[in-house]
Amino acid sequence: MNILIKNANVIDSCQNFFGDVYIENGKIKEVGIDISKSGVETIDANGLTLMPAFVDTHAHFRDPGLTYKEDLETGSRSALRGGYTGVCLMGNTSPICSTKEVLNYVKEKEEKLNLIDIHQCVTITKNFDGKTISHLEEFKNDSRVRAISDDGVGVSDSRVMMEAMKIAKENDWIVMSHAESGEFSDIDMRLAENMMTWRDITLAKVTEAKLHMAHVSTKEAMQYIIDGKCKGVQVTCEVTPHHIALTNDVSNYRVNPPIREREDVDFLIKAISHGDVDCIGTDHAPHTYEDKKKGSPGMVGLETAFPICYTKLVKGGVISINKLSEMMSRNPANILKMNKGNISIGLDGDVVLIDPNKKIVINSEEFHSKGKNTPFEGMEFYGEVVMTIKGGRVLYKK
Ligand SMILES: [Zn+2]
Repeated sequence: MNILIKNANVIDSCQNFFGDVYIENGKIKEVGIDISKSGVETIDANGLTLMPAFVDTHAHFRDPGLTYKEDLETGSRSALRGGYTGVCLMGNTSPICSTKEVLNYVKEKEEKLNLIDIHQCVTITKNFDGKTISHLEEFKNDSRVRAISDDGVGVSDSRVMMEAMKIAKENDWIVMSHAESGEFSDIDMRLAENMMTWRDITLAKVTEAKLHMAHVSTKEAMQYIIDGKCKGVQVTCEVTPHHIALTNDVSNYRVNPPIREREDVDFLIKAISHGDVDCIGTDHAPHTYEDKKKGSPGMVGLETAFPICYTKLVKGGVISINKLSEMMSRNPANILKMNKGNISIGLDGDVVLIDPNKKIVINSEEFHSKGKNTPFEGMEFYGEVVMTIKGGRVLYKK
């Protein structure tokens, strides 16, 4: 698909200029000023901000099996409304994604929908049993697999995690860690996160595997990651919008890991300002009203991530919008080996138009996700996603 976007404030991880972007056959073809094309669909951005579309390292679309909460189509539409064209889905579906059948199902549906790019994680242990990793053999040489994760549970057995990391290293997969030592979950969720974060970084150092720490929420866990990076461990990390926007003195919304203390949030934000945090991961976790009432942890996140992060981090003076673009587009795309994340010639023509000064009020009724579970209902933020373009096709328009 061909499309010319004119008069935009073009911003990515390393540039910031007023001009035009031309997308041809789904790829970025020209970037500059005063580009003109005849007979091509043209959009006048009228001074709006054009950024590379966002990529989420961590989301749950509940498909197969739990589609009363979300499905691949509603999840994809929710992503597009939030400015995302790439997501990494966790494997805690029903059945769990430990087999080729489930992976094939997701990838075939993704292709049929033709909305966003989906990476589906395969689980580290078969059906989350905590010990069996022989199923990973089946995915060797399957280029669709780039990351494995037992998200939602975590791998308690250290020896199993070490063996899984060795296999991941052989296949150039990333191990995405949900850091929660199960033996501490019922008494101390801080200890549960800290212990497993330290362990996984230690194991990644020994095995030289690539490790990605999901939804980092405590100051101790973040410090272990900073120390690991300093020592050359191949560890990346994500923080969620809710773990930097909420503190447990004002919100007790149920999510795992929990909303933390103010000093944890301050530490995470300091780590972001120092460049120690690689990505924003939404941990988009849709639930029905009834399931939420029964105590299911998590919240939807794709449609609120940009305004929250933009308001908190850019308007709040913590980082530049270029750095936010790096954390929401370039770094996640690199981790997931997606050909996108910057406004550069040859990359996917996936861009988003943003009105950064527009004040918005979060209203879950407007979500395209089936999940309306958000603690941000009624809150005001800046930055509205006006349009999302995927491969040169306008797939979301306000
Ligand atoms: Zn998790």
